[in-house]
Amino acid sequence: MGTCGKERKSVPELFGSSVFNDDVMQERLPKDVYQSLRKTIDEGKDLDLTVANAVASAMKDWAVEKGATHYTHWFQPLNGITAEKHDSFISPTSDGRVIMQFSGKELIRGEPDASSFPSGGLRATFEARGYTAWDPTSYAFVKDGSLYIPTAFCSYSGEVLDKKTPLLRSMEDLSREALRILRLFGDEKTKRVVSTVGPEQEYFLVDKELFDQRKDLLFCGRTLFGAKAPKGQELDDHYFGAIKPRIAAFMKDLDEELWKLGILAKTKHNEVAPAQHELAPIFATTNIATDHNQLTMQTMKNVAARHGLVCLLHEKPFAGVNGSGKHNNWSISTDSGKNLLDPGKSPAENAQFLLFLAAVIKGVDEYQDLLRISVASAGNDHRLGANEAPPAIISIFLGDELTGVLESIETDSVYGGVEHKKLQTGVHVLPDLSMDTTDRNRTSPFAFTGNKFEFRSLGSAISIACPNIMLNTIVAEELRQFADILGQEEDKKLGVLKLVKKTMKEHKRIIFNGDGYSAQWVKEAERRGLLNLRTTVDALPRYLDQKNVELFTSHKIYTEAEMEARYETIMEEYAKTLNIEALTMSGMVRQEVFPAVSAYLSGLADSVNSKRAVIKDLPCAAETALLTKLSALLDQAYAQVEALDLLLKDQKAMSSNVLTAASYYRDSVIPAMEALRATVDGMEENVSAEYWPYPSYADLMFRV
Ligand code: ADP
Ligand code: MG
Repeated sequence: MGTCGKERKSVPELFGSSVFNDDVMQERLPKDVYQSLRKTIDEGKDLDLTVANAVASAMKDWAVEKGATHYTHWFQPLNGITAEKHDSFISPTSDGRVIMQFSGKELIRGEPDASSFPSGGLRATFEARGYTAWDPTSYAFVKDGSLYIPTAFCSYSGEVLDKKTPLLRSMEDLSREALRILRLFGDEKTKRVVSTVGPEQEYFLVDKELFDQRKDLLFCGRTLFGAKAPKGQELDDHYFGAIKPRIAAFMKDLDEELWKLGILAKTKHNEVAPAQHELAPIFATTNIATDHNQLTMQTMKNVAARHGLVCLLHEKPFAGVNGSGKHNNWSISTDSGKNLLDPGKSPAENAQFLLFLAAVIKGVDEYQDLLRISVASAGNDHRLGANEAPPAIISIFLGDELTGVLESIETDSVYGGVEHKKLQTGVHVLPDLSMDTTDRNRTSPFAFTGNKFEFRSLGSAISIACPNIMLNTIVAEELRQFADILGQEEDKKLGVLKLVKKTMKEHKRIIFNGDGYSAQWVKEAERRGLLNLRTTVDALPRYLDQKNVELFTSHKIYTEAEMEARYETIMEEYAKTLNIEALTMSGMVRQEVFPAVSAYLSGLADSVNSKRAVIKDLPCAAETALLTKLSALLDQAYAQVEALDLLLKDQKAMSSNVLTAASYYRDSVIPAMEALRATVDGMEENVSAEYWPYPSYADLMFRV
């Protein structure tokens, strides 16, 4: 498609062709301008206005050559998606014409009228207007005729109103504390430490024509009804299965669009559920990975539309088959690319690795609640704990080998085949960890996979910013504590062993290598005192616990007011999401299901009457039984939809206290929706397919 007359570009030519990246900068910027910009990007140095003007002008020329007429400050408000407002480059001249102009000021700062973005009450208390500020660490790019400039979004009085600012802060913070550790190990060269992320993105594709027939998909992104198809995922025939031509065409197009944007799209395959797929990029720094994941999700939707498909990013589009998640592969590395979660080959590297590992273990245990909160949403509540995704209980999988090593350090004993004497003196070499090829535990929410951690609890639709803000900050805090202690130790290796030992003694409860789906684990986790925050409403209030407020305020990631705002926003979004779902459900039942079922019933009744007009006492057993059954279900559905509507009018649903409202939706509205759904699905199973107003699960999942 779209290649007629043009020569097809090779992938290296295509890659990054829409991005104002380092190559383009070097080529187009005067040397001194390029160098100042590079300093800003690499070291966070302020950019002066003359440099900004030169950059803006070069960017504009480049973008105009790529067909851009507009520019937009692209930002990431609290609602988890991205926002953009487009301004054209045109500037009038005295003789009534226009020229294309773009100034350094326009590049650096924007003033969207941003009063309608969620702010959790922050703007009411502070200052109404917000502004966007250029993030030069994420390259600008051209898309759909606009130059996109990645930006952070703040209020005029400085309150953070987005997800990028805290993410950048958390990266800085982690870098600072990790550097302290590296210095203690004698590394004087490393200037910066970055956290890296590779997010594996799951999604569903459905046919656009079928999608259009379902208001639940349109308004909620998921089906609210749907009797199970005879076949689901039980044969395991979709996972890694051959990709159908239509899907393959979509994936090819998607890869090309992503490559143009400089996104390292790498792996694609069919997932477990029918019509479910996955895309994984090669990892990047957390900031870039977050921007790229947002772009990936949007591009998936846009490209799907070109293929007559709709991409569903909801965490649970269909009951009865797996929902979609996002695996956040996270690690930390030096500016020269050395992965700090890689065990390494020498004893010194091992000691350093063990320290970083201990920091993660301690952090995840102390801040289980924050990690759980970072993935909380109404959509993701369908997955966590539903034996398809990791449980809501946060634990770490290390594998038997690494756990064994840590336990041997804890108890001063000897681990398996490891060099015995060295172990006792504390300068042992870790055994080669075979985990990355063998030991794969799919049920763990937080699994060590050889040289990185895979946080698996994320929902497919959420921004990865929040989980990574949490991870970066938590680990920064633990590294800070460790660096303080280790700084006082003369023998650093012994110091590391002491810290590892203490961490194991106090935090090993968080390590669990068994089956996270099992009922025993729920009991065992409770015995260990681990949190099991099953729903968003259970999890979220803990965000404002003293220890969490202390963490974020002391690391200057958020102020307490900003945290309250985030809490309000997420809790409110939960209630609003459920309200939309319940209203959609009610409308579908009243306006589409009732008329369809009643038409079918009257057809059945007509059939009985017309048959009996020929043969008077004909039993018509099937029709009468069906009439009775469906009539009863219809009555039941009516009572249930009436009840649901009443619930939605309750004061609690509209409470200005977000916790009251959200709890009410969870405790009263969700059960009412579930009951109504069961009845409607029962009708679907008994009504003629011709009468049923919606494409069935079988059509949606098997006819793509
Ligand atoms: P899986 O078997 O889970 O698919 P892969 O080895 O294919 O595992 O990696 C999954 C993701 O992890 C990819 O996006 C990959 O780029 C990412 N990844 C690999 N190394 C790192 C790292 N050091 N930091 C962050 N992500 C990484
Ligand atoms: Mg994975």
